[in-house]
Amino acid sequence: EAMHRQLRNEAWMVQEMRRALKEKQFQVYLQPQYDYKTGSIVGAEALVRWIHPDRGMISPGDFIPLFEKNSFISQVDEAVWRQTCALLRHWLDKGLPVVPVSVNLSRLDLFDVQLPAKLLALREEYHLPAKLLRLEITESAYTQQPQQLISMVEELRRQDFQVEMDDFGSGYSSLNTLHEMPMDVVKLDLRFLAGSENRKGQDIIQAVVQMMRRLQLPVIAEGVETAEQAALLSAAGCQTIQGFYYCRPVPPSEF
Ligand code: C2E
Ligand code: MG
Ligand code: MG
Repeated sequence: EAMHRQLRNEAWMVQEMRRALKEKQFQVYLQPQYDYKTGSIVGAEALVRWIHPDRGMISPGDFIPLFEKNSFISQVDEAVWRQTCALLRHWLDKGLPVVPVSVNLSRLDLFDVQLPAKLLALREEYHLPAKLLRLEITESAYTQQPQQLISMVEELRRQDFQVEMDDFGSGYSSLNTLHEMPMDVVKLDLRFLAGSENRKGQDIIQAVVQMMRRLQLPVIAEGVETAEQAALLSAAGCQTIQGFYYCRPVPPSEF
């Protein structure tokens, strides 16, 4: 019965997705990233939400796997990048304080040879300084066709995009990936690491942060839910923190 429901739901999403895109039902939410010491916002991540007029908010976990299978994700992603660029432009024009925003790239995007040109065109269309638009690539994407991916990431970095490795620690090949893949920042997701409530889990977090420092890789910690986790990370040398402890993803107006 659960499988049946799932299939029906997927069929519904496939039927609705094109209209949803046209009617701008895919909306960007922003989750701020904080500097632990100053408590100020130093960046944000753009996270897509499907706001359906009848069904309400649908979270990406429910539709992204499907859209990765049927390739629709590339269109959703492009809409998200465009909305993000428009937001940045809007803040700049209003003279508001502006922080860099990271957008997520799906595995599929990375096999599109047009990707660097598309992103560059957006950055130019909205006259954005390169440092304001950052890219997140999930660690699991790195495990397939690594050669092709390495050259894509190198090309993006040549175009001055800062590339962040998302979900570090969730996959199988984290250590190899660190060694082989070009990247500017590592995103360490506490949800994927051993529990921080016990000594062993704390030691692991500390050791991972220390390793990144040794490799001179800046770290952004995400999935941080408690004051203790934030303090632990800061003590280990990771100052940039994203998580429910500070703030959930919120609509741009609230951000
Ligand atoms: P992600 O890129 O690793 O994003 C972080 C996810 O962790 C977000 O889930 C965020 O809401 C959640 N999160 C943040 N802080 C906490 C916390 O303290 N505790 C817990 N339990 N969770 C926290 P969300 O928004 O549901 O997105 C899930 C995933 O969907 C993202 O993981 C990303 O892989 C993907 N995604 C989201 N937006 C996009 C998009 O525009 N394009 C693509 N291709 N993928 C996206
Ligand atoms: Mg991400
Ligand atoms: Mg992540």
